[in-house]
Amino acid sequence: MGKQPLVGMTPDEMADLLAGLGEPRFRARQLFQWVYEKGVKDFAAMTNLPAKLREQLAERTILRLLEKEAEQHDRKTNTTKYLFRLHDGSKVESVLMRQSWGNSVCITTQVGCRMGCTFCASTVGGLVRNLTAGEIVDQIIMMQRELPEGQRISSVVLMGSGEPLENYDHVLKAIRLMHEPDGLNIGYRHITVSTSGIVPGMRRLAEEGLPITLALSLHAPDNELRRQLMPVARIWSIEEVLAAARAYGEKTGRRVTYEYILIDGVNDGPEHATALARLLKGSLAHVNLIPMNPVAERPQYRRPSSERVSRFKQILESSGIATTVRREMGGEIDAACGQLRNRVLRRQMRR
Ligand code: SAH
Repeated sequence: MGKQPLVGMTPDEMADLLAGLGEPRFRARQLFQWVYEKGVKDFAAMTNLPAKLREQLAERTILRLLEKEAEQHDRKTNTTKYLFRLHDGSKVESVLMRQSWGNSVCITTQVGCRMGCTFCASTVGGLVRNLTAGEIVDQIIMMQRELPEGQRISSVVLMGSGEPLENYDHVLKAIRLMHEPDGLNIGYRHITVSTSGIVPGMRRLAEEGLPITLALSLHAPDNELRRQLMPVARIWSIEEVLAAARAYGEKTGRRVTYEYILIDGVNDGPEHATALARLLKGSLAHVNLIPMNPVAERPQYRRPSSERVSRFKQILESSGIATTVRREMGGEIDAACGQLRNRVLRRQMRR
């Protein structure tokens, strides 16, 4: 058996590991802090642990699961996109957004994706594999390391590549780990799970009793158009997904975010806005409009003009629906899901 990764272990799992080495329980808390809060890269840095224990740990375990391979910074938005390499050579992308109210990150839950949304770059090569809980949280720790001393990451969106609810157990374990007060200490309210609309997963998440924010990728106001854009809509109708989203809101008391990509001439007309307003009327909803990020593999889809975006927003708002337009974060740095990874993979293939 290979070495066990420390990142991804819960406090109890660390306590078991250390108990097996004959160590007292308080050591588990110290180890947890080194792994998750301080995010150290080698055992030598764990100065409050006895040298003998550090040696034993180095023989049996590995600390980190990710290695930084590339990064791109966009000065205009102060956003950095990272490409991380996993132990099996797979690559994942994560984004760090430095905002006036705090630092937030967008992280990946699967290598590739099998959802097949027609506008999305992540799904081009299909699903490669699920990430483990350790690989999911390690993205946050690796970006935390990039921040100046004293700064922390205060919010996380699971909106990078992959469908989080198709990797449910690892994602939930990772979310609980992000929340650990001895580690990253991120509040559940500041964690957003974005889903293409896996109804059983949404219902299961509602039962966890955690005030996580749910974002539903809706992207169309009717079944016909939604099925054209998102194959998953052939399994669950818009009525079923909306019912699950509403139930999530009622159960958790959290306002659900409805994400809606605006694609020029496809789903961004005034008639679509009116239909969307009718669908969401009366629910505890917030609509986040995302002007389509152009994707090299999807040349037929374009971003609409800002006039069309404003018109769409105004129709929703006049029906009393809270609406925001996603500020463009790093269009210049391939920050749309999957783009940096695809570009690097293409470059490697040409070599
Ligand atoms: N699978 C999940 C989470 C990952 S995608 C989901 O579907 O929600 C995160 C968000 O980015 C989704 O709303 C997705 O539809 C959107 N997205 C994908 N490709 C995009 C593109 N080219 N431009 C803008 N948003 C995109």
